[in-house]
Amino acid sequence: MSAITTSSLNVAVIGSGPAGFYAVIELLKQEDPRVKIDLFEALPTPYGLVRYGVAPDHENIRKVTQTYDKAIEANLDRFRFFGHVVVGRDIQFDELRAHYHAVIVCTGAQSDRQLGVPGEELPGVYAAREFVAWYNGHPQMSEARFSLTHPRAIVIGVGNVALDVGRILLRSEAELLQTDISDRALSVLTQSRVDEVLLLGRRGPLQAACTPVEIRELARMERADLVMEERDLILDPVSTKLIETKGATPQQIKNHEQLKSLSLRERRPDRGMIQFRFYSAPEAFLGDGKLEAVRVRRNRVELDASGRENVVPTDVVEEIPCGVVFRSIGYQVAPAWGLPYDTKRSVIANDKGHVVTVDTRKPLDGVFVAGWAKRGPTGIIGTNKPDAIETVETLLAAHRNGQLPSPSRTVDINTVLSDRGVRVVHYADWKKLNQAEIARASGTERPRRKFTTIEEMLNAISV
Ligand code: NAP
Repeated sequence: MSAITTSSLNVAVIGSGPAGFYAVIELLKQEDPRVKIDLFEALPTPYGLVRYGVAPDHENIRKVTQTYDKAIEANLDRFRFFGHVVVGRDIQFDELRAHYHAVIVCTGAQSDRQLGVPGEELPGVYAAREFVAWYNGHPQMSEARFSLTHPRAIVIGVGNVALDVGRILLRSEAELLQTDISDRALSVLTQSRVDEVLLLGRRGPLQAACTPVEIRELARMERADLVMEERDLILDPVSTKLIETKGATPQQIKNHEQLKSLSLRERRPDRGMIQFRFYSAPEAFLGDGKLEAVRVRRNRVELDASGRENVVPTDVVEEIPCGVVFRSIGYQVAPAWGLPYDTKRSVIANDKGHVVTVDTRKPLDGVFVAGWAKRGPTGIIGTNKPDAIETVETLLAAHRNGQLPSPSRTVDINTVLSDRGVRVVHYADWKKLNQAEIARASGTERPRRKFTTIEEMLNAISV
């Protein structure tokens, strides 16, 4: 441990999604200490969830990368991108600790949650995370196949990811042709036979996790109508009490109002439909060798004796034929590199972004975390900004208190990686790749045509 002996800090950030970039930007703003940053990313491409999680028809949200680029391009003397470097394969986490004053883990939530319902393993039942990664051209999903031959698809969960999945399934070809959806997804979706999507929420419309803007979008699609049954708009006693006692949030009230006012009771001819089914939970996925139907049980939401919400299964059960199910019940932070993992909150154990041991809450020297890995998979892209700022403030306070370890290795990380034969993708390489993707889309309305394998990406850089 050293007192403050450095006028500059060397920081490694792992993960180049929004949390990673907001941490980088905040570090670059510091005058004292001046911070040099190396940003490590497993893929050749930066931006993480902005590139591979945000829906392709949300191009405006993607434009946040322009802010990231602007900040780093003004500071290329202090910022380096190390793309296509897998921590744990090409370099070990503890090696990074030895090379830098501090390491910030911004690896997000890479896993998905399971329902624990019989039949979940049947072909045809997928995680929404996989589908999202596939249509966004994530290299890990380049070989994936989704069967879209049955007219009905069911999505479990009513968060914003569920709505993204439903919308993309029902976008028209003309709409998709204005996006950067992967070529393969474009081809499969334009031949898809899905024209009905059911979104199942286990509680009522007031508890829907999605946001009003996303509901409004569903009502404005070329190829499908937003349709609701009356029984799904009725508020349960818990929701009624929430509204009466003014305990409902503006978002909850708005969601309910939008669903009532924007949904049609009948479908227009020649249109598909997207329907919220509330108070509905999957009980089993049925099929002989592949998914054929979902057994869905209606729930009743009640107030229990102590005034708390109680979700009670009823006797009403329905078997709904369908060809594909997407489980969209939230992402999960995976434990990594032996870092302390808080199993109660399912995040890397931390105190305001300083990674701490689970039992004694003792800070790990020089190890920090930001984004979903720190707080869990909640919030929008912008939520990561204050989150990352908090982590950087914690890091700087540790520096001021002399709590950051001095690097024990002085050899440059570039030399280490090059000695190991690692094919690093630097920022200039990414800019070349970026230009190549944009050029591939010239003459079309699409903003870019993504490369979807690592090989294609590296080839495009080598040209
Ligand atoms: P989410 O918002 O947490 O929604 C998860 C959904 O799954 C909820 O409807 C939840 O219902 C349901 N669920 C959980 N466990 C379940 C179970 N065992 N059985 C049935 N249903 C279950 O998660 P998300 O949609 O993955 O989104 C993650 C974050 O990214 C959110 O903060 C979201 O707003 C954000 N995001 C934003 C955008 C955007 O801004 N356009 C787009 C995509 C994602 P309960 O409420 O009953 O638990």
